[in-house]
Amino acid sequence: MRLEGKTAIVTAAAQGIGRATAERFRDEGARVWALDRDAAALETVDGVERIAIDLRDVAAIAALPDRIGAADVLANVAGFVHAGTVLQCEEPDWALSFDLSVHACYRMIRAFLPGMLEKGGGSIINMSSICSSVKAVPGRFAYGASKAAVIGLTKSVAMDYVGQGVRCNAVCPGTIETPSLRERVIAQAAAQGISVDEAHAAFVSRQPMGRLGRAEEIASLFLYLASDEAAFITGAVQVIDGGWVN
Ligand code: NAD
Repeated sequence: MRLEGKTAIVTAAAQGIGRATAERFRDEGARVWALDRDAAALETVDGVERIAIDLRDVAAIAALPDRIGAADVLANVAGFVHAGTVLQCEEPDWALSFDLSVHACYRMIRAFLPGMLEKGGGSIINMSSICSSVKAVPGRFAYGASKAAVIGLTKSVAMDYVGQGVRCNAVCPGTIETPSLRERVIAQAAAQGISVDEAHAAFVSRQPMGRLGRAEEIASLFLYLASDEAAFITGAVQVIDGGWVN
């Protein structure tokens, strides 16, 4: 078991990549704290400690260490995909994009980094995306800007704590089959007046491998970065995209 004896926190753990990651960490022996605002969906994640929380709630995040204690692994998975260009991005869209993808990361790290430093180490893994400073994607203005900020935040934390045993890495997936991706496919079909199958095929056509990624494949990368086997990796921008940006 690669995470035996470790305490791990995963945000956005009720579905999609966060859920797959929480379940993988659990299966590898970690004590997992699964955080999500969807309490009902969270109830269906077995074998983990569950906390229903809105990750935009500053006070609720600050109170987490009193409940959880020190963590060895922090996986910041939460994010929000706004569809639109800069002219289609209103203030609330911009604010939510940064609240969930960037501010929640910042606040979770501020809450749990002190405990890692006391323990003498830890692994922080932040969810970015191919759509970030890695690559622009049409109609993903606020999303790309917020996920680029996640990379900058990650590199800075990695640099500042490299001598104290804390590693910090960013994960940049291509398009992954998840419930929220399904919603985006349906929305795109409606917006373009095409069928859901056609809209799905358009997402697949961006991927040279001819298929989308699976949440479990991203969870495997999170597991590796969380484990001691990745002890020499910090400040990295880990692309996992089926060859999209190659
Ligand atoms: P998803 O959208 O399917 O699930 C997200 C989870 O986050 C849900 O359980 C939801 O309840 C929870 N959540 C939403 N708002 C919240 C809030 N305010 N507080 C607490 N929980 C909240 O997730 P996904 O598609 O697996 O994406 C997860 C992450 O991966 C995101 O950061 C996303 O940007 C990133 N990502 C996804 C893809 C993809 O193609 N699916 C690609 C690259 C990066």
